[in-house]
Amino acid sequence: MDHARLTRADLDALDAGDKLAPVRDKFSLPEGVIYLDGNSLGAMPVATAGRVADVVAREWGQGLIRSWNEAGWMDLPGRVGDKIAGLVGAAPGSVMVADSTSVNLFKLLSVALFLRPGRKAILSEAGNFPTDLYVAEGLRDLLDAGHRLEMAATADIVGAIGPDTAVVMLTHVNFHTGRMLDMGAITRAAHAQGALVLWDLAHSAGAMPVDLAGHDVDLAVGCGYKYLNGGPGAPAFLYVAPRLQADARYPITGWLGHAAPFAFEAGYRPASGIQRAMVGTPPVVSLAALEVGVDLALSIDLADVRAKSVLLTEMFARLIVERCAGHGLVVASPADAAVRGSQVCVAHPEAYAIMQALIARGVIGDFRAPDILRFGMTPLYLGFGDLWDAVTILADVMATGVWRDAAYQTRAKVT
Ligand SMILES: *Cc1c(COP(=O)(O)O)cnc(C)c1O
Repeated sequence: MDHARLTRADLDALDAGDKLAPVRDKFSLPEGVIYLDGNSLGAMPVATAGRVADVVAREWGQGLIRSWNEAGWMDLPGRVGDKIAGLVGAAPGSVMVADSTSVNLFKLLSVALFLRPGRKAILSEAGNFPTDLYVAEGLRDLLDAGHRLEMAATADIVGAIGPDTAVVMLTHVNFHTGRMLDMGAITRAAHAQGALVLWDLAHSAGAMPVDLAGHDVDLAVGCGYKYLNGGPGAPAFLYVAPRLQADARYPITGWLGHAAPFAFEAGYRPASGIQRAMVGTPPVVSLAALEVGVDLALSIDLADVRAKSVLLTEMFARLIVERCAGHGLVVASPADAAVRGSQVCVAHPEAYAIMQALIARGVIGDFRAPDILRFGMTPLYLGFGDLWDAVTILADVMATGVWRDAAYQTRAKVT
């Protein structure tokens, strides 16, 4: 199979040997859709609808305010946080579900700067996800204390860490290129210079094993609605290493981060541990949906997920090269699986229109400006035969030029 062109039978054989294949039935996916966008919005677990209906009808409708205690609503952020801790190599009590990824970035960047007074640089990667960089700019300007946001090219990150670096803020897997950074090596390099690290796990949590404690990571954030399948706008999570929790100072000192929220004291007194990272009332319905996705991820071995992801990305890239030649499609994600996340990026100047034509034919990926067709590979509900079918449609879209149709040229609000 390695040297000859891939055939449908090769893909079917991979499906037959896929131990994650049965997990697909735990997801509710529409007929006629090949979903290659789970890195943007994960699919819906079958169990989610019932769980959410129960939270709404019984816990809220019947239990009313009693459910904060009786249905354990108040403990949900920490309980789901502890479960996510199990997915990202973190100790219980070090992960909290709260807010959005953007807000958590703001909170933990602030924590980092408070913990490294005197150091003025936030170091990130050129091409990092925009919200991460926007948040850093906003905090820098708000503090008005001479902080800088420095940007290094991927290969220069380690060399750019210096004695003035307060925090190295990076996304583990780049949203655009699919490149995975070396969390261990960069974290060690930052610590050697006395800097902290803040890792964004938006494209890692639930997609591959992550070892925050093993790499001695200081701070991390992650997303609930991508590979954790928590639903649209699912709350995000944050991680603070236990050794930093007692000294962590948060920029939003809300009542649920207070030591005694229901004592209604006059002044702010921080809660201990990760509870301090909370701000306000948790979004219970969304948290309940997220817990279903997290439980599903916990029920399987992330090493199996990663192994399948590597194979899916490899096969998909190969199929595009072998079956779509001559149309100007260039695979832009890393060829080396060791530095590739769970997505395949394909560059083409008309990527937007091509993606719209694909979506119209049931192959759902997304477009990332200026020229990337992005295909997320989600091992829990994607089969190898799906890849063959998706590339058959892509080859047809390219061969017929149907993407030139005027209907595919107009940009929607969400791409
Ligand atoms: C998806 C994603 C986010 C999302 O942030 P929100 O606050 O949930 O909108 C942040 N950072 C990265 C790297 C992402 O991929």
